Amino acid sequence: SQKLIDNLNAEIAKAGLSDKVNAHITGCFGFCEQGPIVKVFPDDVFYVQVAPEDAAELVKTHLVDGNRVHRLLYQDPDSHEKVNTQHEMSFYKKQKRIALRNCGLINPELISEYIACRGYEAIGRCITEKTPQDVIDEIKLSGLRGRGGGGFSTGLKWEFTKKPVSDIKYIVCNADEGDPGAFMDRSILEGDPHSIIEAMAVAGYSVGASKGFVYIRAEYPLAIKRLRHAINEAREHGLLGDNIMGTSFSFDIEIKYGAGAFVCGEETALIHSIEGQRGEPTTKPPFPAESGLWGKPTCVNNVETLANVPAILLEGASWFNAIGSETSKGTKVFALAGKINNVGLVEVPMGITLREIIYEIGGGIKDGKEFKAVQTGGPSGGCITKDQLDVKIDYESLGAIGSMMGSGGMIVMDEDNCMVDIAKFYLEFTVEESCGKCTPCRVGNKRLHEMLTKISEGKGTMEDLDAMKELAQTIKDTSLCGLGQTAPNPVLSTLNFFGDEYRAHVQDKI
Ligand code: SF4
Repeated sequence: SQKLIDNLNAEIAKAGLSDKVNAHITGCFGFCEQGPIVKVFPDDVFYVQVAPEDAAELVKTHLVDGNRVHRLLYQDPDSHEKVNTQHEMSFYKKQKRIALRNCGLINPELISEYIACRGYEAIGRCITEKTPQDVIDEIKLSGLRGRGGGGFSTGLKWEFTKKPVSDIKYIVCNADEGDPGAFMDRSILEGDPHSIIEAMAVAGYSVGASKGFVYIRAEYPLAIKRLRHAINEAREHGLLGDNIMGTSFSFDIEIKYGAGAFVCGEETALIHSIEGQRGEPTTKPPFPAESGLWGKPTCVNNVETLANVPAILLEGASWFNAIGSETSKGTKVFALAGKINNVGLVEVPMGITLREIIYEIGGGIKDGKEFKAVQTGGPSGGCITKDQLDVKIDYESLGAIGSMMGSGGMIVMDEDNCMVDIAKFYLEFTVEESCGKCTPCRVGNKRLHEMLTKISEGKGTMEDLDAMKELAQTIKDTSLCGLGQTAPNPVLSTLNFFGDEYRAHVQDKI
């Protein structure tokens, strides 16, 4: 992509258009399957699978002659026609971009572009026109719930952190995205870092915090680079630091690097890691809102949750509340992966069905194969079967069928996938990522994995299947934190929905 940008700018210069046109980077368009993507503004024309060698033709045909480069337009599988714009493409038609609103629109390395899209207006309005309680009430009214998987009311979480009296409070942005196949938070931070900075400042104003931390995994170098650059730009513009916009409100942000431990996504483990201790969870209560970082009230919000905040404050709580289902408001970002045609990042209104995501947005199953299942919620979630394709995507509906919203990983399986192997894959991940603090998770998941391996190698019996179920339930009931409590979910849900496949593996088949 960088070579393509360089070539485009060289061709633009050759054509004498440098004072009128400029090619630059932007955040993720989401349609990974069709990248590299070039979008021409203000014409709104969307070119796909563009190679650096296409630069000369793009500049000559589109910019100089005012025509379209037909061969680089997207061929929509629904209409079987080449389409010019994003909103004509079946991949985008049912999407609604709120958290990803600036990804694919602005240059994430230029604060001026964020400001041109009403950036920092929300924090400006909060600190000059609203009380902290007004802001909390608006977020509560919007119905925004935590997008990291928990689904807890964001406004309530802010209110709980506001209540205790303390000399110092903290805002923590959880950017420790660790589900296999998930890249929602990384894309938001790479494509729109200022929205997270602004939202953290809003949260800080609401709860009375003057210091924020972004806890981000060190494996995300581009997201770290852009975030660091954005923090410096915000400081230079008086939007972070002492007396923001000339008011008495001060707030600053520090970046803390995680080493990529999955358990550090759990808020108490994350807090310990920032403090420099082992990233191990502790029992709650006390909740971080009362006693978090260094024993002080701390509000931990996930990246995607925060990305919604400036939009809610600009457009109003009722606008946000009108999107989605009865209990789950707004949108959710999913990373579509696995055996699906349109691999990529999608943002959909809550309440959409899984069928719409997989067949209309995702373009169906690769190579015309049969859909078998989809795993939502990563290693903590469960699989959803063909019979459940019309289930609505919201916190309650997914929970009711034994899966979960999770942070947004969505891995699609086709007829060729063995569900015992899928369960084994996820369990291997959690065994590896268990922090080892409590016995049910440390030992239980390891034993469960051994049993699963025995079955997948054809050496197990029906008795092993029953023992596996019992052990899985015990681990769920007795583990200390969410990692252990949910680790057996993939095993239990595949046993429940694909029991035949397990029985086909055992020696004493019935
Ligand atoms: Fe650690 Fe697992 Fe226990 Fe959580 S459940 S504290 S990850 S050992």
